[in-house]
Amino acid sequence: MMLYLWLAFVVIVGLMVGSFLNVCIARLPLEKSLIWPGSRCGTCQQPIRWYDNLPLLSYLWLQGRCRSCGSSFSIQYFLVELATGTAFGVLFYFEAVVNVHEWYEPSGASWHFGPLPWTWIAGFAYHAFLVSILIAASVADLNGREIPLPLTLTGTVIGIAGGVLMPWPWPWPVELASPRPGPGVPSGMEWLALEGGLREGIQPWPVWGPLPSWLAPGGNWQTGLITSLAGALVGSLVMRGIGAVFSAGLGKEALGLGDADLMMMVGAFFGWQIVVVAIFVSVIPAAVVGVIQLLVNRDHASPFGPSLAAGSLVTYFFWPWRPPGLHLLLFHWPFLLGLTVFAALFLFVAAVVIRSARPRETGG
Ligand SMILES: [Zn+2]
Repeated sequence: MMLYLWLAFVVIVGLMVGSFLNVCIARLPLEKSLIWPGSRCGTCQQPIRWYDNLPLLSYLWLQGRCRSCGSSFSIQYFLVELATGTAFGVLFYFEAVVNVHEWYEPSGASWHFGPLPWTWIAGFAYHAFLVSILIAASVADLNGREIPLPLTLTGTVIGIAGGVLMPWPWPWPVELASPRPGPGVPSGMEWLALEGGLREGIQPWPVWGPLPSWLAPGGNWQTGLITSLAGALVGSLVMRGIGAVFSAGLGKEALGLGDADLMMMVGAFFGWQIVVVAIFVSVIPAAVVGVIQLLVNRDHASPFGPSLAAGSLVTYFFWPWRPPGLHLLLFHWPFLLGLTVFAALFLFVAAVVIRSARPRETGG
């Protein structure tokens, strides 16, 4: 019973957050204040009273219309609230109830009746924040082809703060997560001998393995800070690099800076390894959307932000099913260098192919 009360509570919080995200989506691109004035009808400028501003319910009750003048509001308000409430519920269910990350000891179902383990409250709140910003950024990108910098900047700061407060391998004890010299494992090779890969914390992986001596054995704020900063830096730089190479091949501007800022934020939360994999993963939804758009409407290039947001979350939540030796590749300089060169060449060739396949554009 308690479980369902908590779930209901989390979904209601999600709906209210969604309502606030709507305000952000509407006002941030116009550089208006988020707090003042309160919500108004865009047509008659009448303030919307609190009982007409309840998430989902008011929209249904008033059939998406203003009570004063009857002009209709966009269905987007309803959908963003619905999406955020659902996302909070799903996130809560998997992280807290199913305990997918094993953030707390699976000591039976006793917590349903007692105080909640604060480790997962922290982890859930941290991720709920990221998901909220990803929703707002995606909708803003779809609306106006622009991701507002205040969104991604706030997210990056929260991401780094979370990294400092919950450094890898938190909430695991460091002894459990860091590889130790064992029988038959030569000294210095412990990371290679890790079975099943690295243990994931709320900050999934440390910045490098083995950690340099001034960060070892992890679990300290320095590790968290460096890991988040490296993630933010790699997220931003890789996206800017892709944009530069692609633009060079295509002969025109491709990828906005908003996409780079979005992956900077994701990196601050998840670290650089997940960012790099997520960018590869994001190409799949982007390609599907791109092909559909080519068939339906040839003029418009689709925004990349929503694909990046989806790709990042998918990568993070499917991280436990990664190939077990992935950390050996991702902590190996020669492999990373080769991957970078290969990806750059591939992107450039792909852009040139796209350029030559397209009919010559007339005008802007
Ligand atoms: Zn009105």
